[in-house]
Amino acid sequence: MTEHNAKIEAGWSFDNSYARLPEMFFTRQAPAPVRSPKLIMFNEPLAAALGLKAEALQSEEGEAVFAGNRIPEGALPLAQAYAGHQFGHLNMLGDGRALLLGEQITPQGERFDIQLKGSGRTPYSRGGDGRAAVGPMLREYIISEAMNGLGIPTTRSLAVTATGESIIREAMQPGAVLTRVAASHVRVGTFQYAAGRGSIEELRELADYTLQRHYPEIDGDGNRYLSFLQAVIKRQASLIAKWQLVGFIHGVMNTDNMAISGETIDYGPCAFMDAFDPATVFSSIDTHGRYAYGNQPRIAVWNLARFAETLLPLLHEDEEQSVVLAEEALSDFTGLFHEYWMAGMRAKLGIFNEESEDEALVKDLLDIMQQNGADFTNTFVALTFVRMEDSGLSCSKEFAEWRERWQARLERQEESKSASQQLMRDSNPAIIPRNHRVEEALAAAVNDGDYSVMQRLLAALANPYAHSPEQAEYAAPPESSNVPYRTFCGT
Ligand code: AMP
Ligand code: MG
Repeated sequence: MTEHNAKIEAGWSFDNSYARLPEMFFTRQAPAPVRSPKLIMFNEPLAAALGLKAEALQSEEGEAVFAGNRIPEGALPLAQAYAGHQFGHLNMLGDGRALLLGEQITPQGERFDIQLKGSGRTPYSRGGDGRAAVGPMLREYIISEAMNGLGIPTTRSLAVTATGESIIREAMQPGAVLTRVAASHVRVGTFQYAAGRGSIEELRELADYTLQRHYPEIDGDGNRYLSFLQAVIKRQASLIAKWQLVGFIHGVMNTDNMAISGETIDYGPCAFMDAFDPATVFSSIDTHGRYAYGNQPRIAVWNLARFAETLLPLLHEDEEQSVVLAEEALSDFTGLFHEYWMAGMRAKLGIFNEESEDEALVKDLLDIMQQNGADFTNTFVALTFVRMEDSGLSCSKEFAEWRERWQARLERQEESKSASQQLMRDSNPAIIPRNHRVEEALAAAVNDGDYSVMQRLLAALANPYAHSPEQAEYAAPPESSNVPYRTFCGT
């Protein structure tokens, strides 16, 4: 087979709309080739959805492409420029170790960024080596695919390729390149960069581009940039509610890690909460708990305020009016978030209709869980299957009383008990990627080259609402330990 045929058979169908934006938004840059690429993870269902052929890519061809050693036909690699507030401080950033190959147009006509992460230095690398380690890239693969299984908008992972090279972190580690798939990589930080460094025309081009790409339903009538801001706020409110409902803690909600598309992006020090506690924080560098579980909605508003500021010149010709419009839009977040979150909580409790006391019912349950250190995921599964012994709350008198209130609440709705249970099954995951199980899978893969532990975990995570027997073994929380789980940014 000639090389040319191999490329056609892989199914690449690139467009490069981002490269048609003004030059300030990117730098064209080829990936730095690696010594001996080896494809260690390949996501067949995702490849199929993208119109890519697994047979053609699980080969030397795929290995070369996903390592950055060969540029597929139609791709136009570039590093994106952006800024970002990192823990509250504004910095010039940009893709320091990632490259956008282009946008794959699927057989259904959808457009997805194909990005290599860990593909070498770029003009935005600052002091970094442009590389990534196998462990963290496999971790991003697991968590992003778990999020997708949970029905939460997210970037996806198409492949991980080991580079055969070592990189220097605290210790030497094997290097890897992750192939990431995203609705786009336009972030709040991209707008901060445009507003800070560009002209109004360049800012407007970015806004028009992003609006058309992610919010095509917004028409030309009225104040389209205000509609854009409102739509982004709404999607973030929905996204953060979904995180809260499964106990996901992003860990590094800097403005460069908030995608305008409304997808979860950048899996660094993220992790899922076991025992319910709003103060939960895993990231070793988040010493003040800025990005703790309970703070995520507030931080989202803070980030969205930074986004709104960038749009001020487009919202109204009068600056004061712009500020009024932006503030009004931002003030919607809290109500929207609350609506999404309550809708999700009602579903988790099998409740179909709305009553004013529902909020107290939810709050009281969470309080009891917090006081007793109950596992967030398992408590809702225990309620679903009436297996109170699995909740860790079976001895709590308050919980017994709460259950009576909840039962009475269920009886006041028209829907049957079985409809209610079905709703709970569909709303309460049997499995989340618990830290100790993720670590176990990564240790087997990185230390022993054994990917079977990770494959089994991924299979169980693919449909967390199946409540299958294979998922039961993943339900156990970690053995209690005096050493809290810590995640690291040194990805
Ligand atoms: P993150 O915390 O992963 O969102 O990254 C923040 C910024 O640091 C982004 O601009 C990254 O591209 C950059 N960065 C992270 N790791 C590296 C690295 N190893 N080499 C160069 N740049 C990096
Ligand atoms: Mg980032």
